[in-house]
Amino acid sequence: MMWHSFAADSSFSDDLLHLDEAAAAQLKAASCPHCGGRLDRADYPRKPRGGGIAAVLEECVRRISLCCGRPGCRRRLTPPSVRFLGRRVYLGVTLLVACLRALTQPAPTETPTDSGVPTRTVSRWLDWWQTTFAGSAFFAASAGRFVPPLEVAQLPASLVARFTPTEPGARLAAVLAFLAPLTTTSARARFLRSG
Ligand SMILES: [Zn+2]
Repeated sequence: MMWHSFAADSSFSDDLLHLDEAAAAQLKAASCPHCGGRLDRADYPRKPRGGGIAAVLEECVRRISLCCGRPGCRRRLTPPSVRFLGRRVYLGVTLLVACLRALTQPAPTETPTDSGVPTRTVSRWLDWWQTTFAGSAFFAASAGRFVPPLEVAQLPASLVARFTPTEPGARLAAVLAFLAPLTTTSARARFLRSG
């Protein structure tokens, strides 16, 4: 995979937006988990950075969100996302690819480009993958899916290598969809149950 020269294009950006829209639609079709009220769209703006890896994604920076329409409840429910990793400064794909670059050598035919992510940030993220993520309940619950077990010291490269799409964007989208339950606390239980 050519991670060192990877840059998201508009078709990749559209694919991720469609995945987020589909997750939101699935959640909106159900009712408010607190009171049974109707859920309305209540998106909010975000200003995440894509860096050199995903500058094109900065053009569409609304975090899809839902809000209960019943007066007195009005609770917010934030669907899982393949674009935003919580409140972090960088987009999910940017952090993922920056970490993959740190763990792999460029392909012989590849001209590396600047990821736009500071080395210190990448180090912090590799540490997150190899300690927080590797020690999470989410990882424990999904570990059985990977045989042989994932090599923790090579996360996230060891995880990405287990996904089958051969086109880099399609493979990243599949990995981000797998990780999406981690991007919400308000709707996580429901999404983990439905797989
Ligand atoms: Zn409600």
